[in-house]
Amino acid sequence: MTKTAEKIQNFIDGQFVDPVGGKYLDNIEPATGKPYSQVADSDTREVDLAVAAAEKAFAGWSQTSAADRSRILLRIADLIERDLEKLARAESIDTGKPLSLARTLDIPRAASNFRFFATAILHTESEAHITDNVAFNYTLRQPRGIAGLISPWNLPLYLLSWKIAPAIAVGNTAIAKPSELTAMTAFLLCGLCREAGLPNGVLNVVHGTGPNVGAPITAHPKIGTISFTGGTVTGRKVAEACAPLFKKVSLELGGKNPNIIFADADLDAAIAGSVRSSFANQGQVCLCGSRIFVERSAYADFVNRFLDQASKLKGGDPLDDKTEQGAIVGKTQLDKVKFYVDLAQKEGGKIALGGKAPEPINDRCREGYFFKPTVITGLPVSCRTNREEIFGPVVTITPFDNEEEVIGYANDTEYGLASSVWTQNLTRAHRVAEKIHTGTVWVNCWLVRDLRVPFGGMKQSGVGREGGEEALRFFTEPKNICIAK
Ligand code: NAD
Repeated sequence: MTKTAEKIQNFIDGQFVDPVGGKYLDNIEPATGKPYSQVADSDTREVDLAVAAAEKAFAGWSQTSAADRSRILLRIADLIERDLEKLARAESIDTGKPLSLARTLDIPRAASNFRFFATAILHTESEAHITDNVAFNYTLRQPRGIAGLISPWNLPLYLLSWKIAPAIAVGNTAIAKPSELTAMTAFLLCGLCREAGLPNGVLNVVHGTGPNVGAPITAHPKIGTISFTGGTVTGRKVAEACAPLFKKVSLELGGKNPNIIFADADLDAAIAGSVRSSFANQGQVCLCGSRIFVERSAYADFVNRFLDQASKLKGGDPLDDKTEQGAIVGKTQLDKVKFYVDLAQKEGGKIALGGKAPEPINDRCREGYFFKPTVITGLPVSCRTNREEIFGPVVTITPFDNEEEVIGYANDTEYGLASSVWTQNLTRAHRVAEKIHTGTVWVNCWLVRDLRVPFGGMKQSGVGREGGEEALRFFTEPKNICIAK
């Protein structure tokens, strides 16, 4: 049994506090299916307290020099790195992801988020426009006030820090709501922020469910900026809540990402990259390539070698250093995965690999939420399995005959988050990339990250962009000052 950890309290005005009503939710460890800690079950009352703290802190923080804000954010990054092992372990227990992944990806990337925005604010430029002999204009970019930051369970610290860092770097104060399923690393981050000297009230974290905490944040009239990452259905509710109040909103939503392999690709690289993009974090990365399309002449070879490599992924206890496939985050998500595997078969698909839970790994994980990497072939492109987001270790593979056809397949979904194209033909790579309707196209790679590039989705994968300059602009309000000559 994993040792029962402390209660995950709210962090309001620099203090760890119980929810007003004193209620807590069980925090389940996905690998065991058992509660290992408790998460504050807050509601509107805590959101109001957090707003009061954030409002009070805004006056001072928005006037703090960029150099001082930068120093504090850099210190937070240092502390995340100092506690890397502790945070990675907490994240692995909380989410079911392999410890090795949390250690090499999630936690280092959370530190880089703070470091990137801490230094970005030291290098911004402001615009000036000379209007002939009449006037000159300059643009002030001011922090907007209180930002509401809502994040999902799949990459909890990484995605929340991707919002917190730019929001507070430019002088806003923030109220963050992590997923109630994976709140531990946000809780630990609050301690680090305090240790780093972040003034009270600049970051407040309120834990609880979407309807009880997320919805009051999106509806609160004093929270003028909302940055949300999560599912498309929830994103729609967030947009509906924000619209009447004309809030500035960024929505990073679901995906059904195409992964296209042309016959001229370096197949070794394409197969290794595709196994990763299919099954990293048990397929629970919004950017995972869940629909693989392979040019017909390479199809049989690709499928055989892909199945061989995917079948060798080592499933196991997430806390075991050698584990490559951990647990699904929760029972609801596991049931969703099973539902789609059943549906795929009803739609005419063949299970070429997996399709079921593995044998129990050890006593500790007997009741955990595990599912084998699953590959489905023989499905029509337009079926539900190929159009709806599953968000688990399930991919489909479909052959195609030519470029035009596969571009049509790639775009035949309401989502438009990311895609990959594998080819050695540079001209084709550019041509295809331009025609695919996704916010990111990776060519001969996957999940390569540069924090300066705009990140986000097209169509129902979202509105707005995060990353670099886009984030700095999102969290500030441009004001033009026009001075007559
Ligand atoms: P979700 O939409 O269920 O929940 C996301 C967050 O919203 C949680 O904190 C939840 O408590 C909160 N929430 C729920 N109802 C709410 C409401 N009415 N108002 C305000 N907040 C509310 O998503 P999830 O299941 O936690 O995460 C998985 C989804 O996130 C997938 O669809 C995945 O594709 C998406 N995702 C997208 C990106 C991206 O960058 N585009 C990144 C990661 C995950």
